Amino acid sequence: MQKLVVLGAGESGCGAAILGKKKGFEIFVSDKGTISKKSKDVLLHNNIPFEEEKHTEQQILSANLVIKSPGIPDTIPLIQAIEQKGIPIIDELDFASRYYQKPIIAITGSNGKTTTTLLNSHVFNKADKQVIIAGNVGQSFAKQVASEIDGDLAVIEISSFQLDRIETFKPHIAILLNITPDHLDRYNDDFELYAASKMRITKNQTKEDFLIYNIDDPTICRHLESTKTKAQLIPISLEKRDGMGAWIDNKDLIINIKTGITMSIQKLALQGKHNLYNSMAAGVAGRILELRKEIIRESLNDFQNIEHRLETVTQVCGVSYINDSKATNVNSTWYALESMEEKTIWIVGGVDKGNNYDSLIPLVKDKVKAIVCLGIDNSKIHAAFGGIIEKIYDTESMYDAVRTAYSIAQKGDAVLLSPACASFDLFDNYEDRGRQFKVAARGL
Ligand code: ADP
Repeated sequence: MQKLVVLGAGESGCGAAILGKKKGFEIFVSDKGTISKKSKDVLLHNNIPFEEEKHTEQQILSANLVIKSPGIPDTIPLIQAIEQKGIPIIDELDFASRYYQKPIIAITGSNGKTTTTLLNSHVFNKADKQVIIAGNVGQSFAKQVASEIDGDLAVIEISSFQLDRIETFKPHIAILLNITPDHLDRYNDDFELYAASKMRITKNQTKEDFLIYNIDDPTICRHLESTKTKAQLIPISLEKRDGMGAWIDNKDLIINIKTGITMSIQKLALQGKHNLYNSMAAGVAGRILELRKEIIRESLNDFQNIEHRLETVTQVCGVSYINDSKATNVNSTWYALESMEEKTIWIVGGVDKGNNYDSLIPLVKDKVKAIVCLGIDNSKIHAAFGGIIEKIYDTESMYDAVRTAYSIAQKGDAVLLSPACASFDLFDNYEDRGRQFKVAARGL
């Protein structure tokens, strides 16, 4: 019997263990931390042996195959010992895809993955297709594959940590949205390594498959040259039109796969420049799988935006309050500021992952009226914008931040929470930060 060891007993690890057991592997689950009650119940219920708060090397090194949670860094001694023994280490998505026969649409990028995953799924749902959503959103892919609800297709959000551990994962349609600096701490501060990891999404694609990519992104173009993908390339662009799968013509978005679809930008559910790429990618994927034009138009129009992404929360005294708490890096905040039409009071700050704020300076000069810093250490924000914005305030709670913004805002302005930073100095996570913003804004 082949032995499968699963490292990490979260959603994906438990799913992998269930699928592995079903496929006849001997399973052992090991987690260095405490395993949640929910996961323990699942493991006990499925008769899967596990350990917590330790990794017993002897058990682990007797595996034929290891599935590692994407949260575990490659640098820990245990991973090195497994690799030295020549035991393959793969990701749960890779493992599950080996048992999944329907088409997979996989989405990666530094920003916009969740939005585009959910948008894509909405497009296919509209066409009465049953869609499995997996990866970083929804339930574990392996668990869904084990339950034998395979639907018509799977739409999977996949991050660079997951891509680092794929061997056979082969999406029929891969979507590469953008590559900008993020998580560099996991890649020896080397942007090229991080970018190379994103390109792995196309590694196993063949000439029957498709790679939809943002041709306006110089990093993607540079890496595509050396990647030698076999997939059919479908570029999308806001700047070019010749040879594109989707482009912008004045105030219209055009999708040109097999036949053309024209749709007014104004009618798109997701507004803002960055979302044009997301809408294009979802529309192109729909057309590749031959959805009707009308379905694509309708679904790009009536998609409900997801929480914490440029979400308009409320209007108070003629001032809009916008929650973009999910903006945890500079690039996503760039797009948020870019999309603002009103004079903006910008709430920013938190745990800075080595940010360089230079790219925001022109937008801040143009659109921002005051900055409200929300973090324990705001020195980098003062250093970056102190010379150009007169009013910069320091706050250490969401309540204070929103109250401060409220006291400065005038009718016709907007208050934007788009932190460009992680949240864990003052909040549990970005959802907690976004919810606190909404409560404070609605309480004004
Ligand atoms: P991810 O799953 O990649 O983190 P999300 O869809 O959750 O992406 O969005 C994260 C942040 O990035 C939000 O602030 C959102 O407004 C912004 N964003 C969404 N799509 C894009 C895009 N294509 N390019 C840049 N930023 C984007």
